[in-house]
Amino acid sequence: MIGANAIEVVGRGFTSHVATPFDGPMIDSSCVFCGTCVQVCPTAALLPVARLGKGREWELKRTKTTCGYCGVGCQVSYAQKNGEILYAEGAPGPSVNGETLCTKGRFGWDFASHKDRLTSPMLRRDLAYEMGITDEPWELSDKSPLAVRKPDVNDSFVPIDWDTALNLVGEKFAETAKAHGPDAFMGLSSARCTNEDNYIFQKFMRAALGTNNLDHCARL
Ligand code: SF4
Ligand code: SF4
Repeated sequence: MIGANAIEVVGRGFTSHVATPFDGPMIDSSCVFCGTCVQVCPTAALLPVARLGKGREWELKRTKTTCGYCGVGCQVSYAQKNGEILYAEGAPGPSVNGETLCTKGRFGWDFASHKDRLTSPMLRRDLAYEMGITDEPWELSDKSPLAVRKPDVNDSFVPIDWDTALNLVGEKFAETAKAHGPDAFMGLSSARCTNEDNYIFQKFMRAALGTNNLDHCARL
């Protein structure tokens, strides 16, 4: 399907069927698990497991966007029902990727509605106590929570609103610049941001903070 030569029609006549070489398991084939064959399967013999039992195709809403996993910028269409993503497809039409996606773009969307996803800025509990945001004093434990159980972000942080977070960051930036100068800062940007975000980021580092200490994950 994508040049991996993982599946092919094998056999003759009534015994012909789509299979891997020698009918072996997919894991032993050259399949890269991109899921493109699932998207183009004309008979629905292949379907995304995540959408089974979740409704009819015409009940799903589709939202086209740009995959944020890497700088290729593939166009992806998310099929959703009641705000829940059920599967992703390469968006048809002229685009960088045609209808193909790699494994990350096609299957790596479950974080969007994951219960552990952060939906607001978080502030360390000791600072929140000092600022009067919580009335529970808190100290960093000597023992790593990893040693006893899976750590929960709420153990050490409290959610705060964006205005409070941005004001606090602005104050800390000003304090640090005053005490140590602009080269006390270092900024790292990400390929998962848009070009416009990355442009604004370098502008902020250079023009607002006054340092050229910045880099981008694509160079690391
Ligand atoms: S998942 Fe991708 S590589 Fe594997 S058989 Fe389907 S199209 Fe080919
Ligand atoms: S689908 Fe894969 S190749 Fe395309 S932008 Fe996303 S991560 Fe990059």
